[in-house]
Amino acid sequence: MEEAEKYCEHLNGGKFKTTKIKVCEECVKIGGKWIHLRLCQTCGTVLCCNSSQNQHAQKHFETTGHPVVTSILPKPWSKFAWCYKDKLKRPLN
Ligand SMILES: [Zn+2]
Ligand SMILES: [Zn+2]
Ligand SMILES: [Zn+2]
Repeated sequence: MEEAEKYCEHLNGGKFKTTKIKVCEECVKIGGKWIHLRLCQTCGTVLCCNSSQNQHAQKHFETTGHPVVTSILPKPWSKFAWCYKDKLKRPLN
């Protein structure tokens, strides 16, 4: 099976949450640093990406099973949704 033909039910819901939070909620507690931020689409928690030291979004998926995050970036055209469960990315407009 080709990579591009993989299907993810989690990314096909249509509507995605947004947030005004601009910090990793776990990093602030421990004084950690983050590179990019991810927004959990299940519970609305803002956490840091896998390029960050603490990888809180990845840990959040492992502990809660919440599969989908979206990117929080200054440039709106570089937005995407990512499913940890299926390891699939979908661009957002
Ligand atoms: Zn999925
Ligand atoms: Zn973090
Ligand atoms: Zn969550």
